[in-house]
Amino acid sequence: MIDKSSQKFLEKLLITPSPTGYETAGQKVWMEYIEQFTDKVESDAYGSAIGRIETNADVMTVMLEAHADEIGMVVQHITEDGFIYLNKLGGSDSTIARAKRVFIHSKDGKVSGVTGNTAIHLQDKKNGGGKEPAWKDIFVDIGASDRDEVLESVQIGDPVTYAEDVEYLNDDTIVGRALDNRIGGFAIAQAMKYLSERKKDLAVNVIALNSVQEEVGGFGARMMSYRYAPDAAIVTDVTHATDSPGIDQKEHGQVKLGNGPTVQHGGANHPAVVRLIEEAAKKREIALQHEATSVRTGTDTDSIFFQRTGIPSALVSVPLRYMHSPVETASLNDVQQLIELMAESVLAMEPDQTFTAL
Ligand SMILES: [Zn+2]
Repeated sequence: MIDKSSQKFLEKLLITPSPTGYETAGQKVWMEYIEQFTDKVESDAYGSAIGRIETNADVMTVMLEAHADEIGMVVQHITEDGFIYLNKLGGSDSTIARAKRVFIHSKDGKVSGVTGNTAIHLQDKKNGGGKEPAWKDIFVDIGASDRDEVLESVQIGDPVTYAEDVEYLNDDTIVGRALDNRIGGFAIAQAMKYLSERKKDLAVNVIALNSVQEEVGGFGARMMSYRYAPDAAIVTDVTHATDSPGIDQKEHGQVKLGNGPTVQHGGANHPAVVRLIEEAAKKREIALQHEATSVRTGTDTDSIFFQRTGIPSALVSVPLRYMHSPVETASLNDVQQLIELMAESVLAMEPDQTFTAL
C-alpha cells in the first residue's frame, strides 16, 4: 500500500493550488519531492517539469506523463459595489458553482470568499431564478463594501479554486478538489521512486513529465514531448468511473471504482505499448479494466503521440467519480495498482525496445 510519507506528499500536492496557467506552486512541490528519486530535475519556460532516471546514453527512453494543472476559475470583473464575477479555467461546471467557499489566489496570498446564492425565498423564478447558472451568473463575495476595497487584495486575472482539499470516506476512498490530476502527478512520482529502488533491473532511461495546461488543450505535454522526444510514452490521467447512479454504461462503458486502473484501446494508444502494459499487469496480477477510445482520449496522450515522427503511447487511468467537481472521489488501491503497473511496464522494456504496429 501507499506508505504514510507518500500519502503526505499526495495530500500536499492536493492542497497546493495549481489552476491551469498558474501551476507554479504545485510544480515546486512536485519537483522538490521527485528530486530524491531521480538523476536530474528540469522545468521549461511555461513550468512543465521532468525528473529523469538515467541508465545509459545508448538505450531507449520512455516517458511517464501526467498533467499538473487543475480546473478552476478566474477573476473576470469587479462591480462598483464590490462583487467579483468569474470565468472558468478549463472545464469547470457552472451549474454546481453557487453556495461554495472559494479562495482567490492573489499575489499577496489567499483571499477567502463565497459564491453567492440568492435565497430560495427571494429567487425571481419568472426571470430565471433558481435555474442552472452560466459562469456569467456566478459572483464571489469577499466581504468588501466596494470595488476599491476589492482591489486592495484582488486583481483581474487572479485564479480561483474551491476551498475543499482532502478527505477520506474510509481507508481506501479519497475525496478532493483536484484529484484530476494530482493523482497522476503523484503516481508518476511514486513510479519513479519504485524504479529508483529497482535500478539494477532497469534497462531503459525514464523521464517523468508533469505537464502544465492540459485542461485547456494539452499544451505543456506538446512542448515537452517535442523537447525530449522520448521513444515511447505511458500517460496517466483520471477516467470516468461509471458505477454511480445516473450514468448509462451502454453509452459510456463500464468502469468501476476499486476494480483497478484502466487501459485504453484504439486511436492514440499504440497496440504494441498496450500489449506490453497488459502483459505487465498479467505478470503482476494487477486487475486491469478496459476502455475504448472513440475519436480522442481527451488527455495529454492526444498531444504526445503525434509529435515529431510519432511517439508510441498508451493511456492508463484511475477511475474517478464526480470529475470536475469539488468532491472528486477515487480509490487509493486503484492508485497503488496504477503505480505498480507503470513501473512494471517500464521494467519490462528492453534497451533497444521499439514499438511497431505491423
Ligand atoms: Zn485530467
